[in-house]
Amino acid sequence: MKSHVLTAFGAPLRAIEAPTPQPQGSEVLLKTLAAGVCHSDLHLADGYYDMGGGKRFTLADRGIAVPITMGHEIAGEIVAVGPDAKGVKPGERYVAYPWIGCGECAVCRDGQEQLCNDARTLGIRRPGGYSTHVMVPHPRYLYPLGKLTPQQAAPYACSGLTTYSALRRVGEAVYRNRPILILGAGGLGLMCLKLLKALSGKGAIVADIDPKKREAALAAGALAAIDPKAENAGRAIRDAAKGLPAAVIDFVGSNETARLGTDILPRGGKYVIVGLFGGDLTLALPLLPIRSITIEGMLVGTQIRRVSRSHGPGVARQGRADAARRTEARPRQRGLAGFACRSNRRPRRADALIRGGSPAAQREDDAAADLARQAIVAHIRHMQPVVRQHDRQGNAPLLDPFAHHGKAVDDRNVHGAR
Ligand SMILES: [Zn+2]
Ligand SMILES: [Zn+2]
Repeated sequence: MKSHVLTAFGAPLRAIEAPTPQPQGSEVLLKTLAAGVCHSDLHLADGYYDMGGGKRFTLADRGIAVPITMGHEIAGEIVAVGPDAKGVKPGERYVAYPWIGCGECAVCRDGQEQLCNDARTLGIRRPGGYSTHVMVPHPRYLYPLGKLTPQQAAPYACSGLTTYSALRRVGEAVYRNRPILILGAGGLGLMCLKLLKALSGKGAIVADIDPKKREAALAAGALAAIDPKAENAGRAIRDAAKGLPAAVIDFVGSNETARLGTDILPRGGKYVIVGLFGGDLTLALPLLPIRSITIEGMLVGTQIRRVSRSHGPGVARQGRADAARRTEARPRQRGLAGFACRSNRRPRRADALIRGGSPAAQREDDAAADLARQAIVAHIRHMQPVVRQHDRQGNAPLLDPFAHHGKAVDDRNVHGAR
């Protein structure tokens, strides 16, 4: 197989040829059909995050070592399966859930594999999609493409999942009834707008310093698009929201956006930070309890598993295990929309992993997920994700995923570049 590999932080990718691995046990080998380039790949390639005040947090500090075959938004076709990989077969096309954990620790058993301390993330800890082939450890991480093209489906794995999760963190009761503020109208910001609309959200005011992105935000259905550097930005946001926005989702994550996001929150409001631009934030501690605000960081999201939750936590845990077995056996019955975040559910389905309570709740969940899926599909036209395809023979990529690297680094000065 041929891979484009990061062999040293800060260095260009190198094309490397190696023997194509054969799947063992439950492993599934995909031939890559499309792989998205995520802004976080650029941080990975640089080898550090900007912590503000001149400090850096290196990937080495995170225990991430080169060589890395990046690419965590992967759509591919199965070319081989291990003897224990049930329910899938060569020729089928899937998008891979990349946020894989050890599967054994308490966090993983609780369904939060993306938070596992022994992460095995595809494209970060394990070889990812910048390659002709990708090994997925188990069929339970595969979601059928359905009618989507590989290029449409790949961004679900990070961009789609992340924005959906961010809205879940804000909470349905909030985003359905009150306007929220989205900081950054890049790929994630625009996808969030579309999702919000599909999830029957009240709408969002978008702030971005780039006039073109503000235009795109309005075209994508923003209630208003504000230049956060303008003198009257705060007032303009409040006017558009007819009060303070109920919550803020920050897809930039810079000093400026964090200050704006936390300053503008109403009492009891929530600031969800997703962007990795870099910087720091100083807060007066007494104001946290006085304003009762929540600051929440998040990356990506979990997989949904269907479980009956009617018998209390112990049984629910057993139910999760049962459900995991069921979904292992029938991966095709889950759709792409199975991706979701589990926080901020209403109490009756406080945990998306323990979903299913009443048939009505489950139908509602399914409907929301379907709408989310449709919104993402609709959005792809606007987002024009940078995708990389292999030629018909499955050889070298047609596009060098890092051909745009210089441009993208410049974009980091622009809100919402992620
Ligand atoms: Zn990503
Ligand atoms: Zn784990």
